[in-house]
Amino acid sequence: MTPITLKDIEIYPIVEQQGAFFKALEFFPALGRERLDENSSWLQPHYIDADGGVVLCVQGFVIKTSHHNILVDSCVGNHKSRPTRSFWNMMNSDRFEKALAAAGLTVNDIDYVMCTHLHGDHVGWNTRLENGRWVPTFPKARYIMADRELAHWTAREKDNPASVPWITDSVLPIIAAKREQIVRSDFAFSETVQLMPTPGHTIDHFSVLVGRPGADVLITGDMIHSPLQGKYPELGMLADYDSPQAAQTRRKVFDRFCEEPTILCATHFPTPSTGRVRRWDGGYKFVAVD
Ligand SMILES: [Zn+2]
Repeated sequence: MTPITLKDIEIYPIVEQQGAFFKALEFFPALGRERLDENSSWLQPHYIDADGGVVLCVQGFVIKTSHHNILVDSCVGNHKSRPTRSFWNMMNSDRFEKALAAAGLTVNDIDYVMCTHLHGDHVGWNTRLENGRWVPTFPKARYIMADRELAHWTAREKDNPASVPWITDSVLPIIAAKREQIVRSDFAFSETVQLMPTPGHTIDHFSVLVGRPGADVLITGDMIHSPLQGKYPELGMLADYDSPQAAQTRRKVFDRFCEEPTILCATHFPTPSTGRVRRWDGGYKFVAVD
């Protein structure tokens, strides 16, 4: 596998799944049939399939620096009960592990796991089932989570655990094992790996900026789900915590990077999920780089 290389840093996609899990008109409630049809010429078949499904990748990224191996987002995971999401329910797949192996890594090599936010498709491999208990998948790793994000989801879990099973099985066991490192969402991990607050999709979502100005990569997490939200930054998706704030975040981030060589690793975009941002009418275009 060819990684993105920034001097002494390599970034590998760790793909667990790709498919059209949701219909675009439901996934983006304000999209509307007319606007979908207007854009189908550039969206289909890569970003939207023939049946109007949004093609989404479920993946994390490994950042290999000369000091650390950092996994950003840990996908859906195995054996997790997700009754409302059939395509993520009780998965039993070796794709995540094989993707790590393709990057030359095993679970023992991961030093840090960064959780851009605490949704089920980003924290699943935080834990694995061992003798009926959820234990950290990455035995040596510290798990970096944003303080307000964690507080928000643990409060929800306390109120109604059945509504957030991924917090119960993939986040709380990390806390119980004392593997967490709670930070602010603007935490500077190192000179070349920095968290960037990108709130809106969730309360304290962050993206991860890697490298140095002129040679850098932004791992977006879920600040964007489809290039449609580049063209229409105000277009929210169904699970947003605060869609207007998510829209402000997209405008701010795209404005900052649209004249830059910065490569975006857009977590949910179908492979290749890497590209640059350029202006496009009143919005922004995602120009894929392979
Ligand atoms: Zn997601």
